[in-house]
Amino acid sequence: MRILIVEDDPLLADGLTRSLRQSDYAVDCVGDGVRAGHALASQSYDLVILDLGLPRLDGFEVLRRLRRRGAAVPVLVLTARDALEDRVKGLDLGADDYLTKPFDLPELEARVRALIRRGQSGGGSQLVHGRLQLDTAGRRATLDGAPLELSARELGVLEVLMLRSGRVVNKEQLAEQLYGWDEEVGANAIEVYVHRLRRKLEPAGVAIRTIRGLGYLLEKPGPEQRPA
Ligand code: CA
Repeated sequence: MRILIVEDDPLLADGLTRSLRQSDYAVDCVGDGVRAGHALASQSYDLVILDLGLPRLDGFEVLRRLRRRGAAVPVLVLTARDALEDRVKGLDLGADDYLTKPFDLPELEARVRALIRRGQSGGGSQLVHGRLQLDTAGRRATLDGAPLELSARELGVLEVLMLRSGRVVNKEQLAEQLYGWDEEVGANAIEVYVHRLRRKLEPAGVAIRTIRGLGYLLEKPGPEQRPA
């Protein structure tokens, strides 16, 4: 799950970024509307948290341009207190929800979860691979209906592999899904996540192959692995 925060107040931006990263979202953060436009054009996000008062290009214009090109990504707008007009204008321009500053982080996180769930409900958030199921919105994996104990990062790796089942996924694609721009990706981190996942999945007959020099491949489930 990747979130873009567009906020020019450095303290608030920092607090939001930390808090969402602690909840295992990949987070990118930019401080003005022009950089927001660049980020939105070059990367796909599951949610945008958008401040309205921004340098260079305000949040309304960022939102207007985003919706004009047909992007459906959920947008949570941050507005000043008593700014009813701003809220109405934001919603009219295609924002999905708004929060009034100052707000509590738990409330923000609840809205984030709800918006991401809503954003995915149309897209079918249940991935199925043989006996393995992954609920991308609920961030849960099950095997024959029994929950699998996976860390958030292991779930992230599994999600990418399942979305591209039968095709090779390289380390860069996995890293992109798991980290924000300014987070360090340890050279071996991806290998470690894949190794752990493989250990947990192999007893169930789910194989992640290493394709040397290219990446990883989740093998298509064999007929004996399909649910009865
Ligand atoms: Ca601002």
